[in-house]
Amino acid sequence: MINSAFAFVLISVNPANFDFHCHSSVSDGLLPPAEVARRAAANGVDLWALTDHDDLGGLDIARETAEAAGMRFVSGVEISIEWNNLPIHIVGLGFDQHHPDLTGGLAALRSGRLERARRMGEALAAIGIPGVFEGAMGYVTNPNLISRAHFARYLVSIGIAREMSGVFQHYLTPGKPGYVDHRWAGLAEAVAWITAAGGVAVVAHPGRYKMSGGDMRKFLDEFKDLGGRAIEVTSGSHSPDHVLHFARLARHYGFHASRGSDFHGPEESYVDLGRLPQLPQDLKPVWRLID
Ligand code: AMP
Ligand code: MN
Ligand code: MN
Ligand code: MN
Repeated sequence: MINSAFAFVLISVNPANFDFHCHSSVSDGLLPPAEVARRAAANGVDLWALTDHDDLGGLDIARETAEAAGMRFVSGVEISIEWNNLPIHIVGLGFDQHHPDLTGGLAALRSGRLERARRMGEALAAIGIPGVFEGAMGYVTNPNLISRAHFARYLVSIGIAREMSGVFQHYLTPGKPGYVDHRWAGLAEAVAWITAAGGVAVVAHPGRYKMSGGDMRKFLDEFKDLGGRAIEVTSGSHSPDHVLHFARLARHYGFHASRGSDFHGPEESYVDLGRLPQLPQDLKPVWRLID
């Protein structure tokens, strides 16, 4: 067991390769948490967070396996929120995983996913693709955490599209026939749960959100006012242009910068654990905020 003073000393040693965004089978990743940990270590990651969607169930085994493999571990989660009618993700890092504000908030957030999944199945049946709810359930590994990714895997398996990205583009994004909204958390709620639990709130993959430059600034203003402190700059979802753009925004707002592969599985993710560019050197890496 590492006490917090010792953990602080450890984390103060600059990591060579940190990866603070990835998923296990506790949400919509393909590998169990221990396998994700071993794969991260094998890829040379030395400071690592598991950030499953809306669920902390993988953290204990991830920590244990990570430390046995010689990595330093940071608790993580990726919280699904809605801002201005857009689905957005906020990563939380380095929190007390037993804090009731966080665990209670996440439990409430998960509870509507099953009903939403049923409605997605009905919506797809209405356009002539029956049995998708049942099919998607065959891909679900945590019954409390059914995600659009499980639907996309099933729809690829029956030949609706060749890749998951095609399924999302035509069926599973806002305005498309299989998209069903959900009562996600608000920005204020998600940031409050993370900070109440002593963690750091981070904007996940900002390059993925379809918002204007003005809306992005409004969003980041709000995020900062609420206590958000960091933004993903290097991400498996970011192009080199995104990295430059969000590095500029990080400097402008005084945010710390995070780096995360968003790995979901070996055949599915373009970017493997730890295999992404380093942060631009002048940025403040987010691990400095975590003790
Ligand atoms: P949900 O939390 O059910 O809304 O599902 C969101 C998940 O779907 C994300 O975490 C990704 O794993 C996946 N996803 C969203 N958009 C895409 C996309 N364009 N291509 C592949 N996977 C996606
Ligand atoms: Mn996902
Ligand atoms: Mn995400
Ligand atoms: Mn993710």
